[in-house]
Amino acid sequence: MVVLKFGGTSVGSAERIKEVANLVNSSQKKVVVLSAMSGTTNSLVEIADYLYKKNHDSANEAILLLEQKYYEVINQLFSTQEFKEKGTELIKSHFTYIKSFTQDMFTLFEEKAILAQGELISTALLHYYFNEQNVDSILIPALNFMRIDKEGEPDLFYIQENINREINQNPENAIFITQGYICRNAFGEIDNLRRGGSDYSASLIGVACQAEEIQIWTDIDGMHNNDPRFVENTKPLANLSFDEAAELAYFGAKILHPASVQPCKIANTPVRLKNTMQPEASGTLISSAVNGEGIKSIAAKDNITAIKIKSGRMLLAHGFMRKVFEIFETYKTPIDMITTSEVAVSVTIDDTKYLNDIVDELKKYGTVEVDTDLSIVCVVGDFIAESKGYAFKVMEALQNISIRMISYGGSRHNVSLLVNTSDKKEALNALHQNLFDHV
Ligand code: ASP
Ligand code: MG
Repeated sequence: MVVLKFGGTSVGSAERIKEVANLVNSSQKKVVVLSAMSGTTNSLVEIADYLYKKNHDSANEAILLLEQKYYEVINQLFSTQEFKEKGTELIKSHFTYIKSFTQDMFTLFEEKAILAQGELISTALLHYYFNEQNVDSILIPALNFMRIDKEGEPDLFYIQENINREINQNPENAIFITQGYICRNAFGEIDNLRRGGSDYSASLIGVACQAEEIQIWTDIDGMHNNDPRFVENTKPLANLSFDEAAELAYFGAKILHPASVQPCKIANTPVRLKNTMQPEASGTLISSAVNGEGIKSIAAKDNITAIKIKSGRMLLAHGFMRKVFEIFETYKTPIDMITTSEVAVSVTIDDTKYLNDIVDELKKYGTVEVDTDLSIVCVVGDFIAESKGYAFKVMEALQNISIRMISYGGSRHNVSLLVNTSDKKEALNALHQNLFDHV
């Protein structure tokens, strides 16, 4: 069994859906996980937002616009009258459902139900397309097996039991199609794994059905050794360890959802990042095979806020850190970087929803300073192989940039530096030159 996940752009038009069908059509047993067609989830978010605000006119306008786009897709995707009609019926029924909310009360529950429509449509379209081509495929509804618990964490046991039951009902079948992103919550209501969550779906599915490999198909040729949006001549990476991939995904490499690496690492299921536009390229393989290649990649994450808590009383005071961390825990706000000195601790966060409350509480324990518009620049690799001198190279590259925090030694896979976002591009380029161009 292999799992193949196709992102929004990979199913972004009729043409691309046909391409996906081509890539998938073989006798090997597989689960195909799809995102919504690109732009759809954003439109659905917008529609839900209008509905919350009871702006039904704008909601209707946005709904009609999206619906129209799908009729064009139907027209281009199917060649027979029979399937054009089936496709039209499908779109009609999903949009009638979406429109039904313009009359009723609108709550979080309805919002989640609306957001689920994108993946439900894309998977049904691929399934119909296979039907029209006389290729056997089976649609297995993610809402029958993908579930999160009361904490919002995937219910691994439930997922495993139920997806395997769905698959085993059709032992002869090779192609199983399912939705990424969507799930049910502990109360059985429609929910989702948050934006970009289709990758996470794919890894949970791969682990649950003990796949040999999980392939994440996108529109770029794997993870690169730096951010191609800011640095020229970046190169795709052939191999990464799970830890390296997790750090890169977390610190900004947009290609893979950060949460998706952990389940695969635990189950030791390799993940391959592939490019739909260039299917023959081998992409990036993420696996437990570690190769001591030193520094592999550089990434950056924006919208970082730094909080410094200075306490005269911290001097040798035990319990201070616990109190500080408990406050972040209470507000379910994850910390990215930490640095300490004898009298102060600095942390960074990217979720500032509860910033004011957190700062308020921290003030009980010391003087608090908040800095915004920062970026974490993160250098990832396996540093054992090059443990001498690489930290120097990193610092040397950044000699003209002011550094707010440095975190080194937390793992052997990462050194992180906090800089002003206005210096980020320069930092990425200087590091690229010093770490890669000279070797
Ligand atoms: N369609 C969802 C989104 O746009 C999930 C995904 O594509 O991963 O966030
Ligand atoms: Mg994605």
